[in-house]
Amino acid sequence: MSRFGCIEAGGTKFVCAVATGPDEIAATCRIPTTTPEETLGRAIAFFTELAAAGGDLAAIGIASFGPVVLDRGSPEWGRIARTPKPGWSGADIAGAFGRAFGVRVAFDTDVAAAALAEARWGAAQGAVAAIYLTVGTGIGGGTVVDGRISRGRRHAEMGHMIPARHPDDRDFAGTCPFHGGCLEGLASGPAIQARWGAPLSALAADHPGHAIVGWYLGGHAAGLMAAIAPDSIVLGGGVMETPGLIDRVRDAACAADQGYRATPEEWRRIIVAPGLGSRSGILGALALAQDLVADPAGR
Ligand code: ZN
Repeated sequence: MSRFGCIEAGGTKFVCAVATGPDEIAATCRIPTTTPEETLGRAIAFFTELAAAGGDLAAIGIASFGPVVLDRGSPEWGRIARTPKPGWSGADIAGAFGRAFGVRVAFDTDVAAAALAEARWGAAQGAVAAIYLTVGTGIGGGTVVDGRISRGRRHAEMGHMIPARHPDDRDFAGTCPFHGGCLEGLASGPAIQARWGAPLSALAADHPGHAIVGWYLGGHAAGLMAAIAPDSIVLGGGVMETPGLIDRVRDAACAADQGYRATPEEWRRIIVAPGLGSRSGILGALALAQDLVADPAGR
């Protein structure tokens, strides 16, 4: 059975694992994301030790924080693109592992990989088109159609779409350094903290923040439905762990849609919590590696 190296490369930590399948994860380790040299070095050391003990890896899958360069025709492929995160602009993540182990590396965004895992093993099984959207420190999403990640040469930036303003939220400038009041600038964890001084889950149940954040995310879901027509929209990330928020998002999506694309009952089935919980990222990396071995010509 093939063994795959799996890496969930996050902005605060790297999770590394060796797996033969979604239920056979042999070893994992967590490495704080500090400098590229230190973090990549420690991840390579982890896989080197395991490879020495148990044989070669068939491929390595990396589900990375973004922005990343995904154009296979670019000399920059596999690198972190320009980012405010100190030291990481241009960091060659895929190349570091490819050179260290002499295997092919599959590389995509953490959210696209999570969409792949949720469609294969999680809450979006059976969907022809599925979107995974994370709402946490940032907001981002990935799309899977017919079991494959769907995108152009670049990855999507769903969190940077500009929503209509909630009537009770017109005075807040937004926290996105690029756009101010894009979705991420209005509904991410830092935007909630900047507005109301606490995480959403810490605000009283009758605090208007719940309705405002639900309204933005529901409107976004209705927009995604209009653009992509997904069967499933999986909402992950820390903000979505707020009790009751997913129902507010469903109600707001339904209200924005006005019954045009889906009934209230259908919206409840379309907008779902992750089936894989916090494992969607690392299992996404596994799915990327599996697909690369199954279809070496794929990206
Ligand atoms: Zn933005």
